[in-house]
Amino acid sequence: MSQPLLGMGLPALEAWAKQHGQAAFRGRQLHDWLYAKGARQLADVSVLPKGFREQMAGQPPDGSLDWMGRSRELHRSVARDGTTKLLLGTHDGLSIETVGIPAEGRLTVCVSSQVGCPMACRFCATGKGGLQRSLAVHEIVDQVLSVREVMEQRPSHVVFMGMGEPLLNIEAVLDAIQCLCTDLGMAQRQITVSTVGVPRTLPRLAELALERLGRAQFTLAVSLHAPDQRLREELIPTAHAYPIEALLDDCRRYVAITGRRVSFEYILLGGLNDQPRHAAALAQLLRGFQSHVNLIPYNPIEEEEFQRPTPAAVDGFRRALQERHVAVSVRASRGLDADAACGQLRRRLEGSLEPVLAR
Ligand code: SF4
Repeated sequence: MSQPLLGMGLPALEAWAKQHGQAAFRGRQLHDWLYAKGARQLADVSVLPKGFREQMAGQPPDGSLDWMGRSRELHRSVARDGTTKLLLGTHDGLSIETVGIPAEGRLTVCVSSQVGCPMACRFCATGKGGLQRSLAVHEIVDQVLSVREVMEQRPSHVVFMGMGEPLLNIEAVLDAIQCLCTDLGMAQRQITVSTVGVPRTLPRLAELALERLGRAQFTLAVSLHAPDQRLREELIPTAHAYPIEALLDDCRRYVAITGRRVSFEYILLGGLNDQPRHAAALAQLLRGFQSHVNLIPYNPIEEEEFQRPTPAAVDGFRRALQERHVAVSVRASRGLDADAACGQLRRRLEGSLEPVLAR
């Protein structure tokens, strides 16, 4: 079965070139054009023989528009602070979001791992539409290349915090991390995998990462969003099958296998989980756990009832954790005017992509 070239490493590209009657050095050329030059189509790789490019153009691989495995840009939304959200079209007519977030000296790409998401978190626009399918390796790597191309800057960090639950697509996510590190030259430590938790997958993630990548140095960010099971189930319906204590036990096993500390994400929803008593309960829950808590003030989506927390509530929550010796940071809001929250752009444009494309 043929597959797109994006996502393949140098040995696989050399083997592909030989399989198709070319010398192995053509594989090295392809590697350079795929990853360093960011070529979008095989026809653009002008160092390859013209006859070969013409012959291959007529037979694209399974699951792709062209041998290179790149997507089409359907829409671009740029915020005043430079945060750039792209809506990318897949070969089968679906769309995914990816976001480039510039900051001093760095460019973070927030990538999607699935089209849609089955986890149905109540505060999330993506969760409202359900899952369509998981992404393949080339569709994940393509998002990083697309942001690099549009923002004309080399991404320094990648976070799996876009559409989808990465732990429901572990193998493709790990293969994409391998490709980003080996072929695009990123450091594993600059990559974060974020999950709301899928039963029994954290130890598997740790073991597979060691097996496939040789080490697990990326950051694991676990979305807690509540200090107790009842409130967590209200916000994340799928949490009913995964008690918070079992999730924390799996986090401890992850730490034991990888030697890496876990980062906990906590979305602050005005009046709901942002009170000092919630901070005290969270500190109690995490007692003795070497961790870091990242507070995320909620980014409102149109049809939901949740509120953005007040600056005083955010500050009070942070201080309450610090007083209890919990390492904590607050994520700065970026790109609020660019539909920057997960799934917002795709939902806003649902049903209207044809007019966007026609512009
Ligand atoms: S927050 Fe993440 S896991 Fe939850 S529905 Fe949205 S994309 Fe899925």
